Formats: sequence, C-alpha cells, structure tokens
Amino acid sequence: MSYDSKSLDNILANMTWPQVKKAVKKGKVVIIPTGSIEQHATALPLDVDSNSVYSIAEAVAIKTGQIVTPPLVFGASSLWRQFPGTMYLRPETFKMVIEDLIYSLLEDGFKKIFILNGHRPNMWYLDPAVTDIIDKYIEKYKFIIAFSSYWDMPGVRDDLAKLRKGEIGSMGHACEAETSIQLHLRPHLVRRDELKKLKPSKVMWDWTLDRPMPQIYTRHPSPERITGVMGDPTCASAESGEKFFNAIVNRISQFISDFAAGKTDKYVLLK
Ligand SMILES: [Zn+2]
Repeated sequence: MSYDSKSLDNILANMTWPQVKKAVKKGKVVIIPTGSIEQHATALPLDVDSNSVYSIAEAVAIKTGQIVTPPLVFGASSLWRQFPGTMYLRPETFKMVIEDLIYSLLEDGFKKIFILNGHRPNMWYLDPAVTDIIDKYIEKYKFIIAFSSYWDMPGVRDDLAKLRKGEIGSMGHACEAETSIQLHLRPHLVRRDELKKLKPSKVMWDWTLDRPMPQIYTRHPSPERITGVMGDPTCASAESGEKFFNAIVNRISQFISDFAAGKTDKYVLLK
C-alpha cells in the first residue's frame, strides 16, 4: 500500500478529532475490521485474519475516500484454544465489545457503519450484536449498518474461482487464499521451510462455494492430531495473493461506494 496525504483523512487512528468531526459532517462511511489471533498452521503467523482484513479495509477506505478504524484483533476463536498463542474473546464478550465500538461511532454522529470481518466464526456473534444495536438505537440515531466477511462480498467468490490455482476445497483456513494473501502482504512472515512440509486438507466449505452445511460442534481440535491447515496452502503464491487482494479490494470498494451514496437497494431487493 502506498500512502499519500489523502490517507491521513481515511485512517481513523491517524486522524485528529477535528478531522473526525469534519468526516462526520461529510457523512463518511466507517469501516470496522474484525479479525482474530489464532493458529494458522505452522507457516503463517497468528494474526493472519486481523492483518489481512485490516489491509483490505485500509485499501478500500483510501480508494473510496471513506474511513477505516483500527481492527478488533481478537475474535471468537475458542475453537483453537488448544493451540498455543490463540487468544480469544468469549462470544458474549465479543458481542459486547462490538456493540461498544459501534455505539462510540454513533455518539460521534456517524450514520453509515460497515463491519468487514476476516474470521468466519465472528459472523455468528456480529449478527446478534448488530441486531441489538439496531433495536436499541435506530430511532435515536437513524443510521445504517452492514457487515460481511470479505470473501462473502458480492462478486468476490466469482473472482476467486477464476483466479485460483487449487481445486475446490483449497480455500478454508491457512489455505491457498490466506497463504497467498500473506505472501503478497508480508512475505517475511511466511515460513517457507514449514510451508513446504504442509499437506493439503481440503474443506467442504470452500470460500468460493455457497454450500449449506450443518454446524458441527465436537471436541476442540488439538495440535497432536492436526497441523491446523484447512485447504491447500501448497498451491499458494505471492502472485496469486496480489491478484486475490486486488480483486477483493475492488469488489468491496464498489459496495462501499454504493453504501456511501445510499444505493443499497440493489443488495437487498429481489429484482
Ligand atoms: Zn484465517
């Protein structure tokens, strides 16, 4: 990501309060990225979800002239609690933190909030958090909120399906997609010697599919039984990562531009 002076107006953490006041007056969209600190097998660092989603959200904010907040780096990751380094919020804590963050922005006067998620299970708790915020405050603050994981945004599945090198099942967790994006964003943090040793472990819920699946809860996965790969990191590359990243940023930017302009009907109404 290259920065110019414009980025000073788009990254909340870098802004001053008078700048934020102006952004509220202009009706800017605020993007809150949500990630996790959890195992990503043996070749990738623990903060993949938080870094990837923040990098995407930051690029989108700069491209569209909107605002990105710091990411919520901890998520609902108790599934991976047996893997050292995994740090998680309990679902009810995650929900309350998200509600507090949204409420802070509503108090400032922001009316358009978008939560971009980078860790699948967070979605299950974003839904009740946003529902509660809407129920409590919609009449008082008159706002609109949208949220989605980045791979579920309109058009992203089609793009990834065209750009992928692996077969269906290669994109899940510490997979072709996440490894490629990290090879593009932070090649120095990808352990190449470990990457060579990893074996594919294909998933039913590939990123490019909309395949209904039961949620199956059983004992927590353990490092004694699995590496943590879900998908196929062996077909990942920095070249693919750059293509995935740019496609995702372009698709989400289209949505954010529509969201900023109030053109949300096409995303919710059947035509
Ligand atoms: Zn991940």
